[in-house]
Amino acid sequence: MSFFRTKLACKQYLLSRRWPKGVTCPRCGNDKVWELKSRPWHWLCKSPKLPEASTSGYRFSLYVGTIFENTNYPLLIWFKVLYFMLTTRRASVPCNSTHDRVGLPDRLVYLAPSAGRHGGP
Ligand SMILES: [Zn+2]
Repeated sequence: MSFFRTKLACKQYLLSRRWPKGVTCPRCGNDKVWELKSRPWHWLCKSPKLPEASTSGYRFSLYVGTIFENTNYPLLIWFKVLYFMLTTRRASVPCNSTHDRVGLPDRLVYLAPSAGRHGGP
């Protein structure tokens, strides 16, 4: 549990789970994204494929598309739930009932190491 003790560690973990090969744009998959120096954990995509390209570009955060995006709960609380979920995954419970039981939304599932949905090739 000590790994998730700090918010920074949580964010670094989340970052490495989401983008193990480097940050890419969640909308168009562009890997030429700019890190926003003024806003930590935010990036900017200026791909011409996006409608925002003609203006300021598309900004996204580490949390976009995850359960962390629209939650008021502190990140550390979520990671405790996540940790619980990951450590109970082995218990041969079908995937659905695992998060039904703890009331987690589907979007959390892809953070789990064995989910594979965004886990690479
Ligand atoms: Zn993009």
